[in-house]
Amino acid sequence: MSAASSPEPPTIALAAPLTGWSAPLDEAPDAVFAGRMLGDGVAIDPTAGTLHAPCDGELVVLAPSRHAVTLRTADGCQILMHVGIDTVNLGGEGFTAVAAQGARVRTGDVLLRFDLDLLARRAPSLLTPVIVTADSGFRIASRVVGSEVRVGDRLMDLVPDAASAAALAAASASAAPAVPGPGATRRATVAFEHGIHARPAALLAASLRNLAADVRLALRGREANARSTVALMALGAQHGDEIELRASGPDAALAVSALAAVLGAEAAAPARGADTAARHGQPAVHARRAAAGATPAAAVSSGSEAAPAPGATLPGVIASRGLAIGQAFQLRRPEIAVAESGAGVTQETAAFERARAVVRGRLERSAAAAGEGAGARAAGEIAAAHLELLEDPELLAAARVSIAAGRSAGFAWRAAARAAAAELRALTDPRLRERVDDLLDLETQVLLSLAGAATAAAPALPENSIVIARELLPSQLVALDTARVAGLATAAGGATSHVSIIAAAMEIPALVALGPGVLALRDGAPLVLDAERGVLEVEPAEARANSARATLAARRERAAAERAAAQRECRTADGTRIEVFANVGSAAEAAAAVRNGAEGCGLLRTEFLFLERDSAPDEAEQRAAYQKIADALGGRPLTIRTLDAGGDKPIAYLPQPAEENPALGLRGVRTSLANPSLLETQLRAILGVRPLEQCRVLLPMITEAAEVAAVRAVLEELRAELALKQRIEVGIMIETPASAVLADRLVEVADFLSVGTNDLTQYTLAMDRGHPQLAPRLDAMHPAVLRLIEGAARAAAARGRMVAVCGGLASEPLAAPLLVGLGVHELSAVGAVIPQLKAALGRVTVEQCRELARAALRAADAAAVRALAQSALGDGREVPR
Ligand code: PEP
Ligand code: MG
Repeated sequence: MSAASSPEPPTIALAAPLTGWSAPLDEAPDAVFAGRMLGDGVAIDPTAGTLHAPCDGELVVLAPSRHAVTLRTADGCQILMHVGIDTVNLGGEGFTAVAAQGARVRTGDVLLRFDLDLLARRAPSLLTPVIVTADSGFRIASRVVGSEVRVGDRLMDLVPDAASAAALAAASASAAPAVPGPGATRRATVAFEHGIHARPAALLAASLRNLAADVRLALRGREANARSTVALMALGAQHGDEIELRASGPDAALAVSALAAVLGAEAAAPARGADTAARHGQPAVHARRAAAGATPAAAVSSGSEAAPAPGATLPGVIASRGLAIGQAFQLRRPEIAVAESGAGVTQETAAFERARAVVRGRLERSAAAAGEGAGARAAGEIAAAHLELLEDPELLAAARVSIAAGRSAGFAWRAAARAAAAELRALTDPRLRERVDDLLDLETQVLLSLAGAATAAAPALPENSIVIARELLPSQLVALDTARVAGLATAAGGATSHVSIIAAAMEIPALVALGPGVLALRDGAPLVLDAERGVLEVEPAEARANSARATLAARRERAAAERAAAQRECRTADGTRIEVFANVGSAAEAAAAVRNGAEGCGLLRTEFLFLERDSAPDEAEQRAAYQKIADALGGRPLTIRTLDAGGDKPIAYLPQPAEENPALGLRGVRTSLANPSLLETQLRAILGVRPLEQCRVLLPMITEAAEVAAVRAVLEELRAELALKQRIEVGIMIETPASAVLADRLVEVADFLSVGTNDLTQYTLAMDRGHPQLAPRLDAMHPAVLRLIEGAARAAAARGRMVAVCGGLASEPLAAPLLVGLGVHELSAVGAVIPQLKAALGRVTVEQCRELARAALRAADAAAVRALAQSALGDGREVPR
């Protein structure tokens, strides 16, 4: 270290710790680094495998897997050097520590050696962030980027920074008196696979932003300030360690909950439960299979891969089910270069506002197109979400502050978007984590606009293109001429990303997480994309291509026949009437469902009216929305479920207590009963729909008759007050094991039952419906769930009550005969699968259904039930989709 040249504030000169190319930190392919969650710095692409000390100091943290070190100077400045990206996964392989933790080192001393070739093969990137940690009390006055550096070259000059010093004071105030206020402690187990290394430390610290509390993590007699990433790393916590969280201050309880949530939720790719995907038009099974293997983007190497050989079969994850035959078309994302320095605040501000206006105009047009087909609707919804983000005051403020500090509009916007994305990644609410994709998409749209490109120019696609990309953004997909797109194949990406949802809504077969090899395929290479088995077949043999062509032709014919027959009443082969309804969330969806043959709506999730706003909709707004949907159904039955808030559908403005386990907390009817005016307003709105006979009320999360009686009492009061003669039917959701087991008592107070297989499965199998690792096992075909459905149906039959299923299982044609065999009379499904459901039921008799159900109830597990359903009901040519 060459430090203090005068008694004035110390400055620190950092020498290059590596030989290689020095790049802006934004180029690190990891939002935690690029978003500066750990602090500012540069990223060096090393050309030699030795890491040296950039200054004099103490080696305060050597990661157990030896891939990262942190030095602290005598002035308390901390410099983190993280060799490569995701190298913690190597578990120390390829790294040799030369200096030990606690050692005092001098500028230029060797700290560790690493095997450059091994890292090039095994890590997603060699870029090595060299970071001045955010709580160091120093900022970078100058840095060398965009050039070669050799070990010892001047890399950065640091000067004291008041804001960062304040952060340091807060972070290091371990001995200071705690923030006054209540205290909270809690134990939490570290779920991060590699313990608390750099990324988890950044996520933990970020989760405390905006919370007023002094928070410590204690482990094996040591304590770390939870806001200091270095202290967190130095704690040495490993996967499975039980940590004590200690907080004091006004937000103590929130702080320990936030930390426990981050600690307990391995920072995996965001994945939504099967049901959420079903709500967006994908049958549940797709998401279930897919969520199991989603590959984080960073796992895709950027290195040059050999092209897969003809005849090769690449395994991937199904994002949108189907089969496609076509030719490879590589879709490359434009590289958008962004200069760090601006051309003046006025000029950059004007450019920023112009670019935003262009993007806003395009998004408004796309949002307005919602309603012209399922794909456009899905794209429209996403455009509406992008519009909201484009106006986000915090995001804009961050970008404007950065422009005011002399940065270019592009640099400022990118940094603001990435920092926000990194923060969202740290959150546990899956819906918020989804917005990371939105942010990154919006980042690109604004940057392209700044660069003068109105939109990512739509490429000229050949017919039957199988579009290949590293990852696709929704804006890229909607810009394509989809009439020419046979399928989508991406190297990275997850099955529950927005682009997967749009692809499913557009019925474009898609595979994701195929690995980097797919990027090396030549344009025009013949491909079979089998998004049913989850493989991409490269240059298949002629016989295979022909058989795939024949399958596709037969399917098209069959689908056309099913669609043509979808308007008929659903009957089994022996003439038994089964009603096939749709789950809807808007009037447009209701109209589309009717076109697909829906005979009514079996589940209107009214949450759609309450989410993403600051206060609850009033009676008039609710009534108008319900009326619009009733009208769109053209007189067909409309089942309106009262608000199912809480659990996986938190609503911020409701007075919900902080809960340790929201899935087992105040949710569904419990929330409504705890907020009587909310319930009363909703029931009044429902009673205002005309004709009222079209409507039924459905109550979520029932566990006992008293809850039904309480709602009925409010309804009766309102009927009397409104002088209504008509009685409205009140049904209950069977979503808890309690309600299934007590069905014989509940049918005494309920007019009908509707089984919510999503929650019933979650609570029966004790598996969180949003848990990415458990997703493959969260199968509603589990015999334990089927036994509960059968018991409830038997109880309902004894009392002459109707039983419906409205959870994700009702959207699986394979399950339809089984459910009928269990005694179900009505299925309420995703609109798009209704023609297939009706066709599947038209091929079986009720006796065949019962025989299948009897066997399924004796089966040992869900896989056995699926096999039974397939062998009993598959038509010999192919399994029902
Ligand atoms: C269910 O749990 O199956 C259900 C239909 O309710 P939701 O998915 O809205 O919780
Ligand atoms: Mg439910």
